Amino acid sequence: MPQAHNGLVDDSLDNLVLSARARVLADLVARHQATAAAVSALEDACESRQWWAQQWPEGEVYVAGLVAQDVQDALFENVGRWPMCLACDDGPVHSLYIQPDLGGPEPVWVCEETGQVAAALGHLAR
Ligand SMILES: [Zn+2]
Repeated sequence: MPQAHNGLVDDSLDNLVLSARARVLADLVARHQATAAAVSALEDACESRQWWAQQWPEGEVYVAGLVAQDVQDALFENVGRWPMCLACDDGPVHSLYIQPDLGGPEPVWVCEETGQVAAALGHLAR
């Protein structure tokens, strides 16, 4: 397979990962969490999920949500919870999480308390 990295399959995976990166970055920016540490965690997540999708092409629909979950986990360990739920007025402060839990298809942020959809991935309100 000459020039496999220029083939259509790899190009589409590159685009998929770039799009996942853009969506997660938009949600980091929306919540003022686009720190150097968060962006670095995002780069790591994109790299490992790109590798993962190369091994299992059917997994492509899960990439964006999985990248978001990876960044969420990395931030939780080092910085704190992201993204927070802004919709609920009472009760303890809580996070949003990615639904479907597998990461896709069509990943959305859901309130962990009410199960209500807050936004599609990449569309969190500021
Ligand atoms: Zn909530």
